[in-house]
Amino acid sequence: MFSFSTIANYHQQLKDGNTSVAEAVQYYLNNIKGKVHLNAFIEVFEAEAVEKAALLDEQLRAGKELKKLHGVVIAIKDVICYKDHKITAASKILNGFSSLYTATALQYLLDEGAIVIGNCNCDEFAMGSTNENSAYGKVLNALDETKVPGGSSGGSAVAVQADLCMVSIGSDTGGSVRQPADFCGIVGLKPGYGRISRYGLLAYASSFDQIGIFGKNVTDVALLLEIMSAPDKMDSTMQKDGPAEPFTSFHPAAGKKIRFCVFKQVIEHPSLDEEIRDRINESATKLAGQGHIVEYIDFNLLDYIVPAYYVLTTAEASSNLSRYDGIRFGHRSDKATEDLEQFYKNNRSEGFGMEVKRRIMLGTFVLSTGYYDAYYSKAQKIRRLLSDQVTGIFKNFDAILMPTVPATAPEFGAAHQDPIEMYLADIFTVFANLTGIPGISVPLFSHSNNMPFGLQIMTNKQDEVHLLNIADMLMQQYKPALRNK
Ligand code: GLN
Repeated sequence: MFSFSTIANYHQQLKDGNTSVAEAVQYYLNNIKGKVHLNAFIEVFEAEAVEKAALLDEQLRAGKELKKLHGVVIAIKDVICYKDHKITAASKILNGFSSLYTATALQYLLDEGAIVIGNCNCDEFAMGSTNENSAYGKVLNALDETKVPGGSSGGSAVAVQADLCMVSIGSDTGGSVRQPADFCGIVGLKPGYGRISRYGLLAYASSFDQIGIFGKNVTDVALLLEIMSAPDKMDSTMQKDGPAEPFTSFHPAAGKKIRFCVFKQVIEHPSLDEEIRDRINESATKLAGQGHIVEYIDFNLLDYIVPAYYVLTTAEASSNLSRYDGIRFGHRSDKATEDLEQFYKNNRSEGFGMEVKRRIMLGTFVLSTGYYDAYYSKAQKIRRLLSDQVTGIFKNFDAILMPTVPATAPEFGAAHQDPIEMYLADIFTVFANLTGIPGISVPLFSHSNNMPFGLQIMTNKQDEVHLLNIADMLMQQYKPALRNK
């Protein structure tokens, strides 16, 4: 019987003849069918996956060397272009549209032998925290189906959580990989800004967006990062300097003192659940007990980061989403009109969902003459201050420890009573996107309400090596069963 622990272990099983790619693909297709009510996928590429599996098995039989992702079954958030496959961004406005090219990051995975099993459900245009803003219906958290899986990459998270694929990719503009990873009890990495090419990722807020990775362990996530972070001349914001980073070679901090900091204002924040606070404090104490340095420091800008995030991202979104006019691609209204402007209005009013409309209007407002200085410029100044603070922090510390989210996964409907409440819950994740640093959520804890939650680690810009090392070290300490085999 096929079972999955790590990619390395799967490859060993393939080499030993204990399993085949065809068997792995069938295992996931069966699981997807058995758990179709979770609604994690918008489309499943069954025939293609079966065909590619047969081809890869044939290559192995012929004695070909295994590529890094030979037969690795992945799922992709439906905001990542895959040539000749439909892409919806979970929005009606893209009805019937197929990608004209493949996103560079995805192409790199395919080149290494990965098999895409399907497109995952998400919040419309990646805007949301619960996966309830999807034109394709909500996604259920497999650990408790009355609870949200998180968002916006909820489908990608549940695909890994519920054993519907081995690893998956999503996008993280303000927490959309780390937060659902926290709610679903898996690993979720947001690399630093510019680490992975955004070419072929549908834009929400271009100066924040980054492709992220979900997995069951840190090693698999590191492997995907290593592959996807190869340079791409199609994305001018990519970091290209320096040699290829050895993301998969862990040198756990044995003997090395790591300097951690914890923000006092985070730990004391009134929105933070008691148990989460206790577990984060205990982890800090444990690390200090192991000889690492842990300091609680002031971070006075905490209350500004959510407003700054929502001003800047909605401003960028209002511009990025202007291309969906119903003429070049996507939904076109049947309502008759001779007025071109009314035609655009009809297409966009019918095609976009509530939350996307709210953000386009908010973004248009903060950019409008008369309000630009009061909102947009001010938010940019906060972003600058945050960036300066980050530079200062990483002069003295190697990593920041934080909860990923203030509370565990809520029930459906709860977060939607008040959108501002939902926005405020992004308080611990948007910091990394505003400053461009990498962050990871590792599933270390279980709440007395039976839901999982994670610890978030952040390191300096371009320092994913340290980030993954620390994450792997903590996973080994807390979850030895999930250790790379
Ligand atoms: N919850 C955040 C938002 O709605 C994060 C979204 C994201 O990272 N794509 O903007």
